[in-house]
Amino acid sequence: MSAVGGVIRSEIASLAAYHVQDAAGYIKLDAMENPFPLPDGLREGLATHLSKVAVNRYPDPAAVALTKALRNAMGIPKELDILLGNGSDEIIQMLAMACAKPGAKLLSVEPAFVMFKMIATFCGMTYVGVPLRAADFRLDADAMLAAITEHQPALTFLAYPNNPTGNLFDREDVRRIIRASLGLVVIDEAYFAFSSQSFLDEISQLPNAVLMRTVSKLGLAGARLGVLIGRRAWLAEVDKVRLPYNINSFTQTAATFLLENIGEFIAQTKVLVAERTAMAASLSRLFARFPGTLCFPSEANFVLIRVPDAAAVFAALKARKILVKNTSQSHTLMRDTLRITIGSPAENATFLTALTSILESQYA
Ligand SMILES: *Cc1c(COP(=O)(O)O)cnc(C)c1O
Repeated sequence: MSAVGGVIRSEIASLAAYHVQDAAGYIKLDAMENPFPLPDGLREGLATHLSKVAVNRYPDPAAVALTKALRNAMGIPKELDILLGNGSDEIIQMLAMACAKPGAKLLSVEPAFVMFKMIATFCGMTYVGVPLRAADFRLDADAMLAAITEHQPALTFLAYPNNPTGNLFDREDVRRIIRASLGLVVIDEAYFAFSSQSFLDEISQLPNAVLMRTVSKLGLAGARLGVLIGRRAWLAEVDKVRLPYNINSFTQTAATFLLENIGEFIAQTKVLVAERTAMAASLSRLFARFPGTLCFPSEANFVLIRVPDAAAVFAALKARKILVKNTSQSHTLMRDTLRITIGSPAENATFLTALTSILESQYA
C-alpha cells in the first residue's frame, strides 16, 4: 500500500473532489450567481474603505461592524445570536464538527444541496437522505418523520427554498420535522432574497432549530460570507469550533460597506425575481410544444427544467457558449434535468432563443 493510501481515510479517498466547470468565455448560468456587477455608485466607496484596511493586523475576531450591518440588513431579531462563516459552507462544516459524536447522523432530503452529504463525510458523520416526492419534489413528511424516529439524527438540514429543485417545502411539514427531532434542525435560506417565505420570524419560537443564510446569491459570492442565526445556547457551542479570524479583514470591510447599501442589491434581486417569473412563463409556452418537457416552480434565482435528453441539450447549449448545470446524474429523481440560473435580461433572452432552436432541431 502506498503511503497516501495508507494514511488518507478511506471515505475521503473514495470521494470525487467538488467540481467547478471552467466558465471563461461562457454565459454563466450554472452557479446561482447574481449576473449584475457591483453598481457603479458603490465602486468608489468600496475602494476607499478597502484602501484603509489594516492588513498588517489580524481581523476583528468578533466582526463587530459587520455583525451590526448584517443585523440591520436582514432584520435579525435582537433576541437571536449570530455566528459568521467563510461562506455558509463553512457554517455547515462547523455544525457538523461540533455534532460529530461517534455514530452521529446527519439527515437531509434527496435531492438536496450536495455539501450536506459531502461535509457529513468530511466530519465522519453518517449521512441519511430521504427522497422527496418524485412528481413535484415536495417533502415526504411521513418518510421524514419515520427516518427521524429510526435514525435520531444529530443534525437535519432543510434548504428553504431547496437547491437544486427550487421549491419551498410545506411550512407545517417543516414544523412537524422540527418538533419530532431531538437533534438540531438547520433551515438553510441561501435563497432568502428571492423567496416569498422565510422562517426568520419564527426561529426564536423553535428551541431546536437555527437559520442559515448567505450573501452569496444576493450578489456577494466573492466575499465568502454566511451567517447562522439562532439561540445563544446552540451558537455558543458551534462558535467553539470556529477558527479564529475566519472572516478576513477585506470581507469584513467590504461586506459591512455593501450591506449598509443593501438597497442596491435588493433592487437587483427584484429584477431577477421578475426575470424568473418571465422565464417560467416563456418556458411553459415553449414546453407546451414539446412532449416530455417540464419547468418546475421556483422561489429561488434558478429554474429546474426536464427535457427528453438533458445531456444533449446541455452539450448543445455549451456549444453555443451557454453554461448551465446538468443535474441529471445527481440523483435518480433528477433524471434529464438541467438547472438554469436566472441571468441578466439579455442572457436569459439568449438562453431562451438557444433552447428554442435546440428543441426544434431535436424534435424535427
Ligand atoms: C449556494 C448554497 C450554499 C452555500 O453558500 P456559500 O455561502 O456560498 O457557501 C448553501 N446552501 C445552499 C442550499 C446553497 O444553494
